[in-house]
Amino acid sequence: MPKNIQVTPRTFTVYTEKNIEKIPQLSKFSRDEVLAMRAVANVLPFRVNDYVIDELIDWDRVPDDPMFQLTFPQPGMLKDGELDAMIDLIRKDAPRSDLKAEARRIQLGLNPHPAGQKSMNVPKLEGIEVAGMQHKYRETVLFFPSAGQICHSYCTYCFRWPQFVGLDDMKFAAREADRMIDYLKQHPEVNSVLFTGGDPMVMKTRVFRRYVEPLLQPELDHIVSIRIGTKAMAYWPGRFVTDNDSDDLMRLFDEVHSAGRNISVMAHYSNPVELETPMGQAAVERVRNAGAVVRCQAPLIRHVNDNAETWANMWKRQVTLGAIPYYMFVERDTGPRAYFEVPLGKAFQIFTEAYQKVSGLARTVRGPSMSSTPGKVLIDGIAEVQGKKVYVLKFIQGRNPDWVNQVFFADYDPAARWLDDLKPAFCDRWWWQEELEQMQQEGWTGDWSQDSHIEKRVSDLGHVSFAPAAAGANTLDRNMVLQRP
Ligand code: SF4
Repeated sequence: MPKNIQVTPRTFTVYTEKNIEKIPQLSKFSRDEVLAMRAVANVLPFRVNDYVIDELIDWDRVPDDPMFQLTFPQPGMLKDGELDAMIDLIRKDAPRSDLKAEARRIQLGLNPHPAGQKSMNVPKLEGIEVAGMQHKYRETVLFFPSAGQICHSYCTYCFRWPQFVGLDDMKFAAREADRMIDYLKQHPEVNSVLFTGGDPMVMKTRVFRRYVEPLLQPELDHIVSIRIGTKAMAYWPGRFVTDNDSDDLMRLFDEVHSAGRNISVMAHYSNPVELETPMGQAAVERVRNAGAVVRCQAPLIRHVNDNAETWANMWKRQVTLGAIPYYMFVERDTGPRAYFEVPLGKAFQIFTEAYQKVSGLARTVRGPSMSSTPGKVLIDGIAEVQGKKVYVLKFIQGRNPDWVNQVFFADYDPAARWLDDLKPAFCDRWWWQEELEQMQQEGWTGDWSQDSHIEKRVSDLGHVSFAPAAAGANTLDRNMVLQRP
């Protein structure tokens, strides 16, 4: 237990669409209002726990309270006709199959699979897709353990919502770590594994350990960092503090750290209130004491955190607790986006105003950033170039690593919400577009090992870097592999 923070162990009870009416605090809503929540919850995922309900939501401020907006179904998340259709079906006690059919019709109209995630990012091993993995950027592999495909609560805006509503063919889930390990052995260009979900922190430590431990074997010492994408630090910090196996989890983090790898908890914090509870602060302290780094990221969401004050306060609080502000994302082009989106121009303004309010220590944060089909695109500025107002955009990740840190310009459009809404400012096509289309036509799946030969170089200080191999080289020089003491 952290020294300076008093925490009281508490219950963890989950509510879903089936028992939403049992949430005591909802008694302040009318029957029709609760019915509308149920209607939305039949289409989009709903799951909330009593820590969020009791500790994070200010019930005097609902429905405007940001944590309520973040976790409870909102009528505006569906179009009027769709909402009415769902309400009608529930009112007349329609068979479950009718409700499901109508819900599925609405779900399929919500762009359930954006940014080529299924068609372009799933890698192959000996010609067979490695289920449960994505390899979009050369250095980083995403892994979706099958046991980590739910969350302690669901976010209303979640871009991974299709996983939670049974759109099975869009579900990434890997049962075993073996294929991931085999893939990584053949891909020395990968140096970071990101466990994601859902939320990998819903797994018991003994299950999570089965995925993590094999990554520490000497043959995989090109994996220099292991990241865990999680919202448990906000939605159920007891996972790191009071759960029966939280001590084991801290030991596992310490083992990774002691093995000379970076262990990073990529904590999804949407609002400063998530960092204000004793349990939330104890979680940060414990994770840091175990040798892990806490990096903080979240999308910018209307109704939840669409003002500069909220972000500046959040970044300041993160720095105070020893965590590192990392990303502000743009809401993705999927799901109930129309209700939550913030146009790019406004997003840039909010980011800039918040950035101006914090010290250099919090300016580790980057954003607003779009995880789009060609790569992670940062809105780096709004400027006037040759008499034209433009967005200055920059790749901070790219399907082709050569694109990274390259800028490009788009016509300024205050209503644009995503890269697809933008037009190149001084030409007809983006300079990267032809190459991207070629990748799409060829069914490119993110395998760099076939045609790019990356060497690992290790400095005297043990720092690892990667660079193209010398001309003619076709294998990695295993002598370059880092030898740890
Ligand atoms: S925690 Fe992440 S994966 Fe889970 S619902 Fe929220 S955004 Fe989606």
